[in-house]
Amino acid sequence: MSKQNINVALIGNPNTGKTSVFNQLTGLNQQVGNYPGITVEKKVGFCKLSQNINANVIDLPGTYSLNASSADESVVIELLLNKKDKLFPDVIVVVSEVENLKRNLLLFTQIKDLEIPTILVINMIDRMELKGISLDIPFLEEQLKTKIVLVSSRKNIGIETLKALITTYKTITTAPCLNASSIDDEYFTSLRKTFPNQSLYKLWLVITQDVNFADLNRKTFENHSFTKTASELKKLQQKETIKRYQFINSILKIGHKVDTSTATDFRSQLDRVLTHKVWGYLIFFVVLFGIFQSIFVWSKIPMDFIDLTFATLSSVASENLPPGAFTNLIAQGIIPGIGGILMFIPQITFLFLFISILEESGYMSRVVFLMDKIMRRFGLSGKSVVPLISGTACAIPAIMATRNIENWKERLITILVTPFTTCSARLPVYAIIIGLVIPDEYLLGILNLQGLTLMFLYLLGFSMAILSAYILNKVLELNCKTFFVVEMPNYKLPMFKNVMITVVEKTKAFVFGAGKIILAISIILWFLASNGPTEQFRNAETIITSNEENKTLSSVEMENKVAAYKLENSYIGLMGKTLEPMISPLGYDWKIGVAIISSFAAREVFVGTLATIYSVGDSENEATIKSKMAAEVNPETGVKIFNFASGISLLLFYAFAMQCISTLAVTKKETNSWKWPLGQLIFMSTFAYLVALIAYQVLK
Ligand code: GDP
Repeated sequence: MSKQNINVALIGNPNTGKTSVFNQLTGLNQQVGNYPGITVEKKVGFCKLSQNINANVIDLPGTYSLNASSADESVVIELLLNKKDKLFPDVIVVVSEVENLKRNLLLFTQIKDLEIPTILVINMIDRMELKGISLDIPFLEEQLKTKIVLVSSRKNIGIETLKALITTYKTITTAPCLNASSIDDEYFTSLRKTFPNQSLYKLWLVITQDVNFADLNRKTFENHSFTKTASELKKLQQKETIKRYQFINSILKIGHKVDTSTATDFRSQLDRVLTHKVWGYLIFFVVLFGIFQSIFVWSKIPMDFIDLTFATLSSVASENLPPGAFTNLIAQGIIPGIGGILMFIPQITFLFLFISILEESGYMSRVVFLMDKIMRRFGLSGKSVVPLISGTACAIPAIMATRNIENWKERLITILVTPFTTCSARLPVYAIIIGLVIPDEYLLGILNLQGLTLMFLYLLGFSMAILSAYILNKVLELNCKTFFVVEMPNYKLPMFKNVMITVVEKTKAFVFGAGKIILAISIILWFLASNGPTEQFRNAETIITSNEENKTLSSVEMENKVAAYKLENSYIGLMGKTLEPMISPLGYDWKIGVAIISSFAAREVFVGTLATIYSVGDSENEATIKSKMAAEVNPETGVKIFNFASGISLLLFYAFAMQCISTLAVTKKETNSWKWPLGQLIFMSTFAYLVALIAYQVLK
């Protein structure tokens, strides 16, 4: 018998456990992408249903009804109406949840009317006993004209039954649940007469939701004798919803019973504390503080390990491969490039581990509820809090964490402003410059000036993020309806499998999505730094070694000197020199120019590059870099290069400039377009330049 491949669509209200059912069915056989042209996440997984039947399981975005009010809901409707789509479902599984059946069934009855075989999953049955719920399944099946499977995706109950039932999809009746025409007999009779070959409910959806279906669109229905005005249609839609709820109420009255004496009131007590005006915020900040401490502390060990491993690999490669351009490419371009990508994995892993635990447990919805009012004033959403604060570790996972902001405009603004928050890569730059230009003295005997400067820089980053959000909210002309619906799901212990799948998926998305761009640009930067157009570059070794002044240098010192000379004459060195007229009004010389260009790969490279230019052997040895930097003077004016004015100007430049290709790569990936990362780059760099310019000119 030949193998059969079928499409199964999972549809359900948010928080019904749809993702958990999807994870149980498909495990790690998942592919995550975007629907073409929009940023709604598209998840397709693979599942072997039986010996002969395999399924592509499509996890559609959570939706409350088939009334399109967001991009997510349009995706659902468009797929369900388009038979030509290669993911058009052979069978639909509507996932509902035992405690919110009434609301969940609204969506079910709508889906059922599309006349596609539909199965109803009632999930979370492990909570039935606790909540004193009992169900009359045969009655419900008969009324809803479907097959019902009781599932607990948490306890892996019912999943095999569901798989078996899906294989029999051809035997499930496609009869609609509700007779659409009963809303307005006359209207629907005329519709049927005019379009005799179409399903009535599909016609109704095309008329009321601005979506296309085959060659039918809204225009098709204009200028008929029965055409209705927009307000008449709205009234009919309301009538439809009322009708559906009347039907659902009538059957649940018989098929769904709750014995309230066994239900507990733990949830409302906990909610009172967690969303309290004072305690709520306090608890949230303690939780956040704990999370970011752990991210910093725990990530450090694996990050150092990855760093060391790749440094070793790189030296092993250069020692063991035949010398030449190819070896250099591998040892100095590709290996460090890959290392630079993998370095982010620990932070991404830990951040998403915590985020998914917060989400899974139900706590995140409380936080969103708490923060929404404040954030909304700035065009952000309650859900922007986590990305903005995660940005202090690294903007990469932070931008990836914006995925759960449903409203596109709020999500975009969050993505665009997150890089302003002070990430950990800025720290080494700040540390060295503050050390150079801010005196290590105390204000009022207790406040260390250097510490104060650092704190000021953090606050500056955060304020800038909020301020730009406010401005973007005013200028971005994106028409996204915002209405705040946050559901307070029940508190639950997080499911291990869900947490793990989220973590693996996010890490994979980063490595294979943004990683490619990061690797490519690292290689380009490596090429520019290790090649040069002139004789000086090619003969660096001879020039330096034959110079009388250098005869007394040790071999290490000599090597450093050659490296510095090469860098000076490389393409990047030349770019730094070309840049000099542009950056000298900011108080920088060409050496700083080189460091700025090369630190575009990652901000912390700034310190390493300066170390090379000043031919300091060991870039870890901050004292020597610092003393060399401190001694550096402008040959023309005799003024120190790193003075108070240029130092402040550099600090401000690094606070605001978009000096990070990895962030740009992630923004490209998450917004699905080059327009936004380029805008981010141009705006942030111009702004940084202007602020640094003003600071230097005022302070010098
Ligand atoms: P989705 O929003 O519909 O995709 O739902 P998720 O799969 O993210 O689940 C929402 C919440 O319900 C999470 O906290 C899950 O751990 C929890 N959950 C999922 N399935 C079950 C279940 O069978 N029983 C219980 N008690 N909780 C579940």
